[in-house]
Amino acid sequence: MAAGAAPWAAQDAISRGRRYREPPPQLRGEFQRDRDRIVHSNAFRRLVYKTQVFVNHEGDLYRTRLTHSMEVAQIGRTIAQALGLHETLTEAICLAHDLGHTPFGHAGQDALNECMWDYGGFEHNLQSLRVVDLLEERYADFPGLNLTFETREGILKHCSANNARLLGELGERFLRRQQPGLEAQLANLADAIAYNNHDVDDGLRSGLVEIDALREVVVFGREYAAVLERYPQLTGRRVIHETIRRMINRVVVDVVNTSRAQIAAARVRSIDDVRSQESPLISLSEAAYAEHLELKRFLNANLYRHHRVLGMTDKARKVLRELFAGLMRDIDLLPREHRDAAATAESAAGLAGRARAVADYVAGMTDRYAIGEHRRLFSADDPL
Ligand code: MG
Repeated sequence: MAAGAAPWAAQDAISRGRRYREPPPQLRGEFQRDRDRIVHSNAFRRLVYKTQVFVNHEGDLYRTRLTHSMEVAQIGRTIAQALGLHETLTEAICLAHDLGHTPFGHAGQDALNECMWDYGGFEHNLQSLRVVDLLEERYADFPGLNLTFETREGILKHCSANNARLLGELGERFLRRQQPGLEAQLANLADAIAYNNHDVDDGLRSGLVEIDALREVVVFGREYAAVLERYPQLTGRRVIHETIRRMINRVVVDVVNTSRAQIAAARVRSIDDVRSQESPLISLSEAAYAEHLELKRFLNANLYRHHRVLGMTDKARKVLRELFAGLMRDIDLLPREHRDAAATAESAAGLAGRARAVADYVAGMTDRYAIGEHRRLFSADDPL
């Protein structure tokens, strides 16, 4: 089936449109324009200096948020094409899904959420939407990137009922327990497939994860054994990369077959049918999902909670907490535009407004910028 040809795929012609009306693009489709705007944004370029698992300065070969987002997009596009979904919309959502991520990965998100506890909290997924809706300053006619509803819907993967009420049309599906379009469902799953697999690679490269332990995990052990059997002479990195390549392939084929069958069984005829389903139609089979979870738990216990990673995340948390507290106390420490934004937000919404502006600034920082600012403002010695 041609890409984007399925009746349940998103299509430019039936897009629910942009928040600010614009003339249609001359040479591109609507979702192509979204994808291009995302790639041209400041937030996108910053992803290159934001942590996935390892802080940027730990090595040049580890994934960053940028390379992670590109891997997510590659996996998403392959599956989109196989299922006849809109490939470019899928790509746009995948490339944008982490735009709101703080420096220092999940440690940064947790720290900023604690800092913002009394002011509405901080959630990186919601922040990604805030980046594309408000914070990017690139166009004369509107704030943010003015993306289509479908791309924004895909960026907002989850949302509390309280936040959903504030988000109008975009929040409705969380209140009505409806599904997003298939491209959004797919981007979400492509994210999980990408990190599970590339974190195996990064974990092994770092030496924090051992091959012998990984062989006990079904998805890795099965492909690893198959590679050694087929290529008994093969050694080193090529064994690992050949194994991971096969792991990704297997899971991608599983998603395509499972989702194809689920779409057929649900007899959906349109995006509206997709939205009114009780559960997502894009998913892994039960067996593959169980294996996926086993690997995820393994990585959680052996990589994300490895004492060396935890040591780094402790320091990262301290840097963000101190940056937030210091800037919150004295907004004159902020660069001029951010100070102005904080003053305006404060006159509109009091301290919560000031806090949100400080959080926007801190969340936008790259790892190295956060370390540099922390050092410049608060500390005589290197915190990390
Ligand atoms: Mg991600």
